[in-house]
Amino acid sequence: MMVFTRDLRTSDNPALVEAWKGIGKPTMLFVLDEKLLERPNLSSKRLRFLSEALHDLDRSLGLLGASLVVRKGDWSSEVLVEAVAVGASDIHVSDDFSAYATSRFQRLEAEGVGRGIRVHRHPGVSVVPPDLLQPAGGGGYKVFTPYFRRWSSTQWRSVELPLHPRGGSAQGPKEIKVIENIQFLEALAESSSNDSITGGETAGQERLSDWLDTGIENYGLVRDRPEEDATSRFSAYLHFGCLSPLEVAVAVSEQPDSEEFLRQLAWRDFFLQVLAHRPDASFNNFRERGNLWNQDSESLHAWATGMTGFPLVDAGMRQLEHEGFMHNRCRMVTASFLVKDLNQDWRLGANHFMRHLIDGDVASNQLGWQWVAGTGTDTNPHRILNPIRQSERFDPKGAYIRRWIPELAEVDSPEIHDPSPEVRQKSGYPDQIVDHHEAIAHHRAMRAT
Ligand SMILES: Cc1cc2nc3c(=O)[nH]c(=O)nc-3n(C[C@H](O)[C@H](O)[C@H](O)COP(=O)(O)OP(=O)(O)OC[C@H]3O[C@@H](n4cnc5c(N)ncnc54)[C@H](O)[C@@H]3O)c2cc1C
Repeated sequence: MMVFTRDLRTSDNPALVEAWKGIGKPTMLFVLDEKLLERPNLSSKRLRFLSEALHDLDRSLGLLGASLVVRKGDWSSEVLVEAVAVGASDIHVSDDFSAYATSRFQRLEAEGVGRGIRVHRHPGVSVVPPDLLQPAGGGGYKVFTPYFRRWSSTQWRSVELPLHPRGGSAQGPKEIKVIENIQFLEALAESSSNDSITGGETAGQERLSDWLDTGIENYGLVRDRPEEDATSRFSAYLHFGCLSPLEVAVAVSEQPDSEEFLRQLAWRDFFLQVLAHRPDASFNNFRERGNLWNQDSESLHAWATGMTGFPLVDAGMRQLEHEGFMHNRCRMVTASFLVKDLNQDWRLGANHFMRHLIDGDVASNQLGWQWVAGTGTDTNPHRILNPIRQSERFDPKGAYIRRWIPELAEVDSPEIHDPSPEVRQKSGYPDQIVDHHEAIAHHRAMRAT
């Protein structure tokens, strides 16, 4: 039996390949985990992407002569109920590494033993599995550069060959099984035309193919420029496994000038291996810096709603709310603003991001926040991003700001980065909620190291 989790694809899916090798038609299961659905930081846009991805997966499985069963409830109990019902003795699943994912597997393994059911965990959620690379002294890598060196020089597994339909011929696409569970998911999901991204492997593969044709070429030059919108937007597809990270990495590495892009994929793997070694880093400081955080719900609200009076910060936060996506440069600037200028706990920001991001991912999000906060791996607690300098440097013409802040749409000069009091008053754009330099002095005073 195959249990899909966040590997919602038929292409290069080692767990699915193994399940496919068994006798007869293997059962294909996805469980809507009630514990995850009850989390307060659930994003309705992310659920919409998930529901599209499940429909798409079912269509792809239909072409192979199989179909998807969707159950809802306690994850390990539901997996076992289905396994017993179909008489499965082997369960194949992609391995995963958050504290919660690990505990789910352990429960399933322990409860399966008594019923004669074996659980097989396979690679597939990263290019390189977290436990494959170890530094000389053991444990995990805590610094990216040596990790990236090993990651680049190590032998990756081979991309799996496409699966062949069972029973000789392909069946046409058909409706997903246990439709009421999908309807339950759809009721929670936000149907929105705001987001430019459609869930599922089919859309992911199309995006990959377009990207290889036209996107990757200038990536290194423009990836830091939010107004260009020139990054791949693979993140949600990678998070839900609609694209295989290995397949992407192999395809990209065959292109010229691919190092910068591969480096970003390696960051994703790096954070996953950090989490595998320190599962508590999703909520605890990876490195303790003795921060005394402010608790100020008013400034937190101004930040969350894009009303801080710093245009690049506000543009990023409004893009997040509107699209369920934010450009990487703006994630860094907005996160830095919350943690350094407002001196607020990174966990508040990470939670807010998770409530909105379609690509919301425990490893990349929590450790990305810790990287900015200076409590994570590889980080420099003294690194400060000045929101106005960042704006001048990375959105020099203010095009990204104009796009997301309609109040400033008519400002067609360098003033867009820091509008005068007159412009703010006339346009209804708020004053700055803090003085950057004073705020940074306060932040430093509130940190022990
Ligand atoms: C505070 C903060 C929070 C973040 N939260 C998330 C998150 O929840 N989910 C998420 O996928 N990424 C997160 N990132 C990383 C990064 O911002 C996004 O992966 C990227 O913006 C997605 O856009 P893209 O797919 O167009 O990226 P591209 O630039 O096209 O990069 C290709 C892929 O590489 C990976 N990648 C790129 N940059 C990073 C990075 N800094 N760290 C880890 N992986 C990276 C992603 O999988 C991405 O899809 C966060 C970064 C910061 C600073």
